[in-house]
Amino acid sequence: MTRKPLIAANWKMNHSVGESLKFITNFSRHPLSDDVEVVICPPATSLYSLKVAVGEESKIKLGAQNCHSKESGAFTGEISATFLKDLCQYVIVGHSERRHVFNESHDFLAHKLKRVIENGLTPIFCVGEKLEEREAGQTTEVIQKQMDDSLVGFQEKDLTGLVIAYEPVWAIGTGKTATPEMAQEVHDMIREHVAKKFGTGVSGTLRILYGGSVKPDNAHDILTQKDIDGVLVGGASLDPDSFYSIITSV
Ligand code: PEP
Repeated sequence: MTRKPLIAANWKMNHSVGESLKFITNFSRHPLSDDVEVVICPPATSLYSLKVAVGEESKIKLGAQNCHSKESGAFTGEISATFLKDLCQYVIVGHSERRHVFNESHDFLAHKLKRVIENGLTPIFCVGEKLEEREAGQTTEVIQKQMDDSLVGFQEKDLTGLVIAYEPVWAIGTGKTATPEMAQEVHDMIREHVAKKFGTGVSGTLRILYGGSVKPDNAHDILTQKDIDGVLVGGASLDPDSFYSIITSV
């Protein structure tokens, strides 16, 4: 089954509105192939300006880095998926920084996923083990639990187009990358697990991204693995030329 490669940028808390617009001006000078999907997840403050700047017909798609699990209400500082659907197509859910810095639980993430999907947005659901968990041989167990506890209450039809990002926590922002073979082994396990839970219709179209210190010089080897359908890029996505160079590694 062919799955269109997806290259996603997670800018985290970087780039003001002005810097985001400057990025787009420079990045838009590069031609984008129809064979690759490109998603930029800027800070929420830049989403509207970028939506206007890229325009309706653009090949560049936008995503949010997070959302709340409720539609609206007394949640100061939070953003609802209902609001995001006017601004973007994707939402990152369960990034390791949300899990470990902001203590987001599996249950909270399950509710977010539900809200994102109900609103017609596509989640980029992040999973990944910590270094001590990998060293203790618990990688499979940890990742299957992350999936089992948050991908709950869905039917096959809800999960069409789902994106999962495998991001080993020890590889994010550290310069350490999983070898392509290590990443492939986990991606294969994720696809098998999704097949068992939701059927091969979902697992066959499921795009599984690798994330963790992806750079222009390691992207090609990662992207040529059978079950790696794209990458989620943090640091190296902040510069338009370096991000473009990762896209051309597909
Ligand atoms: C990320 O934030 O999802 C990420 C993978 O970051 P980096 O590429 O900087 O490791």
